[in-house]
Parts: sequence; C-alpha cells; structure tokens
Amino acid sequence: MSPVLEVSGLESFYGASQALFGVDLAIGPGEMVTLLGRNGMGKTTTVKSIVGLLRPRHGTVRFRGKSIAGCAADRIGRAGIGLVPEGRQIFPNLTVRENLTAWAANRSDAADPWTLAKVFAFFPRLEQRQGHLGNQLSGGEQQMLAIGRVLMTNPHLLILDEATEGLAPLVRREIWRCLIALKAAGLSLLLIDKNVRKLVEIADRHYIIERGRIQWQGSSSALAGQEDLWHRYLGV
Ligand code: ATP
Repeated sequence: MSPVLEVSGLESFYGASQALFGVDLAIGPGEMVTLLGRNGMGKTTTVKSIVGLLRPRHGTVRFRGKSIAGCAADRIGRAGIGLVPEGRQIFPNLTVRENLTAWAANRSDAADPWTLAKVFAFFPRLEQRQGHLGNQLSGGEQQMLAIGRVLMTNPHLLILDEATEGLAPLVRREIWRCLIALKAAGLSLLLIDKNVRKLVEIADRHYIIERGRIQWQGSSSALAGQEDLWHRYLGV
C-alpha cells in the first residue's frame, strides 16, 4: 500500500546552519512509527519541516500522494496532518471546551468523525474539566487536551512531539492507552518520545536520527533485540 507520508532527502537549515542532511522516512496507512534520537539531533526539526513550520531547502514531502514540501502550515493542517507540538501550546485563556471546538473540522471526511462527545468519552477527565481554563490544567490534562484538540480536526496522520515528556507514570499510561486505541482505529501516527521500552512494545517501526541523519531504521522486534543501539544512539 502506498505510504500516507513519504519524506525523501529532506535538508533543512536554521539560517546558515544545516540541521537535516537528507532525511528519508515513510509512514504507511494505520502505521505507528517513531522518530528516536538524543536531544538536539533533529527530531523536532524533521517534524517542523513536515508540517510547514520550517521550509525545507531540499527534498520532498509527499502526503497522501501530493507534494506538500514548502506549503504553509495551515494548508498542511487542512490536508489532514495533525500536530501535538512539544510543550502542547494549548490556549491558556480558553476553556477546555473552547480549546476543543476552536478548530474542529472533519478534514478526513470521516464517516464517524471526532466530536466533542467522542473526545469526552475518550478522555473523561476533559469532560470533568470542560469549564476550566487551559492554564488551570495539570500537565497530563493539557496533553490530553492537546491530543483531543487535534482529534477534533479528524486528521489522517497524527504527529506527537514528546508524547509523554514530563508526565507522571499514571498519566503516561493513559496517553499510551489512547495512542494504542487511535492506532487500532486506523489512524497513522508518528511519535517522538524517549520511552524506547514502551515504544518497541506499541509501535510498528522506528527511525533513529543522529545529527540530522537517519542512522538506523527497522521494526520493533529488530530494535527490541538490539539494546546496543539504544546505548549508542539514545543514551538509554
Ligand atoms: P530535542 O529533543 O532537544 O527537542 P531534537 O532532536 O528535536 O531535540 P531539534 O530541536 O530538531 O532537535 O534540533 C536540531 C538542531 O537544530 C540542534 O543542533 C539545534 O541546536 C538546532 N536548532 C533547533 N532549533 C533551532 C533554531 N530555532 N535556531 C537555530 N538552531 C536551531
């Protein structure tokens, strides 16, 4: 089956400083793929280059068969890529309900789209907190809200940058549960997270990036069996 997302030869810069040196990456329909690497290796830059927050200087990005490299972020969002950014970036002065409904849209023309009721059923905690402002939420609630907000746009592909960073173990488990359910529902996912042990359990395939280059790619079973890779590239 043709990939949902296909990134090829991606090169991105911050001014004169090159951060990506020919990144290749693909995600199939319904696949959960991770991008792993130590801090500062180019994970967020790859994500930014995919979603239109940083214009790649070379390379191609194809989403559902169409070239999107260099398109504006809002256009890429409308095409059906949903991003849960590092730091969540929810609106602090809007309520949970307002955060969820602000950009709601059925971008994938889903027969059974995400609605407020569905998001509340998925994250009961958000329903309980629906009248609270974004800045009154705990880190875990903010992450649930950031995910719920993107689900309300009914994306084809969901990208999470630092999916469980800084969250308590219990909340982390809640986020993993939700990501497993989303994959089971057929959504394609690109995850960035440091918890390799959990990722080899729940994801299909992995890419390891080092200094802007993909150094390794393979299945969960391949990565699970090579803990030397974890030490070498991930510092685990
Ligand atoms: P982290 O887990 O720390 O977010 P990362 O793998 O996502 O790490 P990036 O944020 O993509 O790494 O950074 C890749 C490289 O680009 C690093 O050398 C970083 O210093 C540099 N970089 C990132 N953002 C900028 C920026 N806004 N301006 C200049 N250089 C940047």
